[in-house]
Amino acid sequence: MTACSNCNHWKLNVTVRFCSMCGKIVNENIPIKRCTEEEHPKMLRERNMYCADCGKQLG
Ligand SMILES: [Zn+2]
Ligand SMILES: [Zn+2]
Repeated sequence: MTACSNCNHWKLNVTVRFCSMCGKIVNENIPIKRCTEEEHPKMLRERNMYCADCGKQLG
């Protein structure tokens, strides 16, 4: 078990590469996305600690 409570860790069909709570890779088959500057503040407002697309720490 993982300390992270994010559902991406136990879901079977995860559509993102990184966990938005701990930043760990949850699906290696998803390619890393190149995010724009506007996307990260938006994710941070939704209480994400990491970008699920590129794995960058937001906070
Ligand atoms: Zn996690
Ligand atoms: Zn990103």
